[in-house]
Amino acid sequence: MTSPVAIVTGGSRGIGAAIAERLAKDGFDIAITYVRNAEAARRVTSAIEATGRRALAIQSDGGNVTDNTALVQKVVSAFGRLDALVCNAGAYPYGGPDTMTVDDISRTLDLNMRGVMIESVSAARAMKEGGRIILIGSAFGERVPLPGISIYSATKAGLVGFAKGLSRDLGPKGITVNVIQPGPIDTELNPADGPAGDALRSVLAIPKYGEVKDIADFVSFLASDRSSYITGAALSVDGGLTA
Ligand code: NDP
Repeated sequence: MTSPVAIVTGGSRGIGAAIAERLAKDGFDIAITYVRNAEAARRVTSAIEATGRRALAIQSDGGNVTDNTALVQKVVSAFGRLDALVCNAGAYPYGGPDTMTVDDISRTLDLNMRGVMIESVSAARAMKEGGRIILIGSAFGERVPLPGISIYSATKAGLVGFAKGLSRDLGPKGITVNVIQPGPIDTELNPADGPAGDALRSVLAIPKYGEVKDIADFVSFLASDRSSYITGAALSVDGGLTA
């Protein structure tokens, strides 16, 4: 049997890079996507290849329909199969009604929702022996503790409805669909020493930022056979933000 294959969108940095490297250690061949930072993507593919697994970096904008529809086919052409999709790429516009623009709204919907939907549907068609679709949502999709994140929170909440619906369609095919809802995780997007750091720590039960490993470990479990009876779930890894 050939090795299982996973796609991790936005896998060149942050949470996505940690997920890609963790799944490689679990035995998956990995395709990551990125948009701007080819050098960062190369570092991740090198780390994956160092584990003995195959790696592919694809420049693919999750907000672009043409890129979305081509992604799964590119990976199946290169690796011959698909077993797991992790939709991790996401936009985080910040601003309230006084400053938010139509472009902020459209860009966020395109990447955080439409792109995830197209990639998930394409992946489901390509998964011939069951599979795992894992969407990286956010604790802010369930609880909104700060102003300025309404668009982001709406898209991450929307992923839960999408996953619940798709789980009904795909359960009989042995494909599970789940959302992980991280709390604040220390990355370039949301640095622990950044402007939102203190406000976020103050609403956590465990008053510190999580690490990318906290999410990668959970994805590893959800991508494995050990999670085969979990589907249509929104699963918090959030330091108690939603407690
Ligand atoms: P980072 O900004 O650290 O990394 C973003 C990654 O996504 C990079 O690999 C980047 O590629 C890629 N990317 C950005 N835009 C696109 C796009 N249009 N198409 C494809 N790839 C893209 O983000 P995080 O690791 O912090 O966040 C990852 C996910 O986790 C997001 O969905 C975010 O909403 C979610 N999340 C994060 C939390 C946090 O506190 N960090 C909390 C809750 C959820 P490139 O290197 O080319 O720019």
